[in-house]
Amino acid sequence: MRFDLLILDNDGVLVDSEPIANGVLAELLTECGHPTTYEESVRDYLGGTLRLVRQTVEPRLGRPLPADFEDRYHERLFARMRAELTAVAGVVAALDAVDHLATCVASSGTRERIETALAAVGLLARFDGRIFSADEVARGKPHPDLFLYAAERMGAEPERCLVVEDSPHGVTAAKAARMTVIGYAGLTPAERLAGADAVIDRMAELPAAVGLAQDLASA
Ligand SMILES: [Mg+2]
Repeated sequence: MRFDLLILDNDGVLVDSEPIANGVLAELLTECGHPTTYEESVRDYLGGTLRLVRQTVEPRLGRPLPADFEDRYHERLFARMRAELTAVAGVVAALDAVDHLATCVASSGTRERIETALAAVGLLARFDGRIFSADEVARGKPHPDLFLYAAERMGAEPERCLVVEDSPHGVTAAKAARMTVIGYAGLTPAERLAGADAVIDRMAELPAAVGLAQDLASA
């Protein structure tokens, strides 16, 4: 068996947005009465949706987060992305090296967030028409829905999809979708990605990891 599709997470895999996003999230949650550090945000929410943030925080807070929480978050996030965002180190060369595989993006972010981020680093055209957001499915990561939806839209069987993910939520989602997963240990320690089929800590290792996964799958 060969893989037909390479599904890429966006935040932390294509764009180096997690330091910005978790800084903004920690700051905003703290302002909303739920003191949160950057490190806690990375540990608890990295790779998840804002729905997951509400589900986690509101029971602890004993009241809903403000109705405009998501709007305030995105306003600050987009301003900082446009000013500061960069692609993940080495990812463009890694993508060029595996361009024999079809690719798509599957992200917990809203479509506007994904497109704002990819445009800021010059990668939007590369994935045009092959971008899937958690907004399009009932349940975000760690549920399998988004990966299954992306595979279906791209015409690939889940078992023939290879996913690149940097978060525990994303690895869980991909395995629940019966896909093969390469974990990228960027901000997340490799041991928290132990559910992945392979873990790399530099994007330069991605082409070799893809090749190894192909060999194992066809053995
Ligand atoms: Mg991610």
